[in-house]
Amino acid sequence: MDIKNVKGTHDIILEEAKAYDKIEMTMKSFAEAFCFSEFRTPVIEPSELFQRSVGESSDVVRKEMYTFLDKGDRLLALRPEFTAGIVRSFVNNKLYATRDLPLKAYYSGPVFRYERPQQGRYRQFHQFGVESLGVENVLNDVESLFLGYVILTALGLENVTLKINTLGDASSREAYRNALKGYFESHIKDMCDDCKVRYEVNPLRILDCKVPSDHEIVLGAPKMSDYLSNEAKAKFNKVLIALDEMNIPYEIDDTLVRGLDYYSELVFEYHYTSKKGVNYGAIGAGGHYDNLVEELDGPKMAGVGFSFGIERVYSVLKDDGLLDDIVNDIDIYVMPLSEKAKNQAFYLTSGLRTSGYKTEINLVDSKMANMFKKADRHGAKLGIIIGDDEIANGTVIVKDLAKKEQEEVAIDDLLDKVDAFFGEGQDECCCGDGECHCHDHEGE
Ligand code: AMP
Repeated sequence: MDIKNVKGTHDIILEEAKAYDKIEMTMKSFAEAFCFSEFRTPVIEPSELFQRSVGESSDVVRKEMYTFLDKGDRLLALRPEFTAGIVRSFVNNKLYATRDLPLKAYYSGPVFRYERPQQGRYRQFHQFGVESLGVENVLNDVESLFLGYVILTALGLENVTLKINTLGDASSREAYRNALKGYFESHIKDMCDDCKVRYEVNPLRILDCKVPSDHEIVLGAPKMSDYLSNEAKAKFNKVLIALDEMNIPYEIDDTLVRGLDYYSELVFEYHYTSKKGVNYGAIGAGGHYDNLVEELDGPKMAGVGFSFGIERVYSVLKDDGLLDDIVNDIDIYVMPLSEKAKNQAFYLTSGLRTSGYKTEINLVDSKMANMFKKADRHGAKLGIIIGDDEIANGTVIVKDLAKKEQEEVAIDDLLDKVDAFFGEGQDECCCGDGECHCHDHEGE
């Protein structure tokens, strides 16, 4: 039997899983610093949730959703994105009435889209993102956008291109929609079948078309910026002023419309080209939504959010060599030299582990050379060697694997020895200059 993973899915294992963990931890810690709180919503939701929010005209709902009937004949979907589930939870739990607004949520987990698998495009992939719900304020939008930028910078990405645009308010969008309908009317017969549907349901979606022959036609289409109401222009300007004030570089891209129907006003994407020149396109994207909360049976309230694709973020970090320090870095490698020593070594290892040291024991090899090779491969800092002589003496050999210095230590003193070894450097603080504010000495 040769069962393979499902097409478009991938195993995230070993060092790669470590890297994902590091990426997600960085994202979470900044979201927490910005006072967002974690939301864990279900992977399965009623299919209708996404039809009503992400929209019937979006590729995600029309072609890419994993839907199925459960045993009770309910039409369910594997979530293709998080925003709709977060807003559903906000409404179901009446958080708009019981919590301070904006309600600021972050999330992390797998999402599912039946797309054509290719480089950087999966059917099961992972997103981390935030939603800030319940307050209409330009600075609220900027807060989310800034958080995304800060996260990417903290991960080490230096040349993130922030592309932004405005889709305008309802009246701007209506005027623009009519202009697009007028423009595409004479072209639509020559365009792809998807565009024909988009023309009827939401002509804005045509601007997102990736078919090369349609692209020429799209280039000649009217521009959103010519149809913005004065209010929408003023709002967008406020965002630009805030970004200038905060020294965040951006590019205005008036072809940016985003693939999900719920966006209005501000939309943005974080693009990245690696140092080797590989263009990864959007590694994250988001925007403002005026009506989504109301469309999902909540009060009329605005929201804003963004979402990173973890696979894409991982790829750019890897490409730029920013994950090189993620290795198997264990603290201690325990090497018993005989069958008899294995038991003793095992108990000792258990003690070190419960004291919080990342400790591995070699119960497989008998040759010292092999054991040292493996200790090295694991990045161990300290080796502990136990042979029959040491058992007889009630001691172990403790070896600093970097300095290659070793000494015999009584078993009863081992933990103190290990504490001292790993404590080195950690206790250093800025004491001595009379200005110390470190954790231990503040207020002394
Ligand atoms: P979206 O929810 O479509 O706005 O996508 C947000 C982010 O998720 C994008 O910027 C990508 O980084 C990532 N993403 C979207 N679709 C895929 C996919 N099929 N495979 C991997 N990452 C994806």
